[in-house]
Amino acid sequence: MKPLLFDSHMHTPLCGHAQGEPSDYATEACRKGLEGIIFTCHTPLPDGMSAEVRMKAEQLPEYVDLVAQCRAAFEGRCAVRLGLEVDFVPGYERALEEIIKSQPFDYVIGSVHPHLPEIRDAFWQEDPIAFGKTYFALQAQAAETGLFDTIAHPDVIKIVRWAGYDKVLMKEEFARFLDRLAETGVCLECNTSGLIRKVQEIHPAPDLLPMIAERGIPMVIGSDAHRPERVGDGFREGIEALAEAGFKELPVFENRQSQSVPMDQWIALVADWPYCLKSGTPAKLHGG
Ligand code: FE
Ligand code: FE
Ligand code: ZN
Ligand code: ZN
Repeated sequence: MKPLLFDSHMHTPLCGHAQGEPSDYATEACRKGLEGIIFTCHTPLPDGMSAEVRMKAEQLPEYVDLVAQCRAAFEGRCAVRLGLEVDFVPGYERALEEIIKSQPFDYVIGSVHPHLPEIRDAFWQEDPIAFGKTYFALQAQAAETGLFDTIAHPDVIKIVRWAGYDKVLMKEEFARFLDRLAETGVCLECNTSGLIRKVQEIHPAPDLLPMIAERGIPMVIGSDAHRPERVGDGFREGIEALAEAGFKELPVFENRQSQSVPMDQWIALVADWPYCLKSGTPAKLHGG
């Protein structure tokens, strides 16, 4: 039977800020009853952009091999797929496209990391509301490139600019972003790593989920694990919130194609899911 229940966002030591070997992540997935995982490590970027938190361009084949070795080792126990988390940097679309086309990725996540120096330097605004608007517009722009399957952690701005984050005003911006996203057919990510941050809630915040469901935008769930014990972490919180918001299925990607997995299967997976490291440790921009 085809594996369906995946954690679709996690990292490898190649990015320089994640711990554990891919096999440790797969072992953890097996232990928790997940049927598969997708590694989505941070893409290399041209021009030495934020080189300290990502693999180098010449390491991309090594990354692909690492995932392939893990896939072979866990054959029949846990499906292992190849993905990539790609920073959207306006003006670099062509370079990003080259990277994405260069390997047989199953799944490509587009991320706007507001703390990325290149994004901060080009778009930073003192006024958190104005900066928030820019951030959501950049995410819409990322979706419109057609390069990505999913837009990651779509309110991560709240951990970057926690002070001055206005949930009410940002909800309007979020709606504008969703209206543009809905036109593209790109998915949005339910990223459970927010649970271990100061905000102690998933990305996007649970009160934003009905707005997404209402527009028929599919959501993919991922832990964004940077250490093995976070694989599947907070999935009960995430899946329950998604079910409550009205989602009837959650897709999983293979070979850049999505397959819908009915919600009752996800709910059965997390019925007695004790795995949530929710600790409320201070916001850390990378890792977790
Ligand atoms: Fe990210
Ligand atoms: Fe990530
Ligand atoms: Zn991430
Ligand atoms: Zn990271």
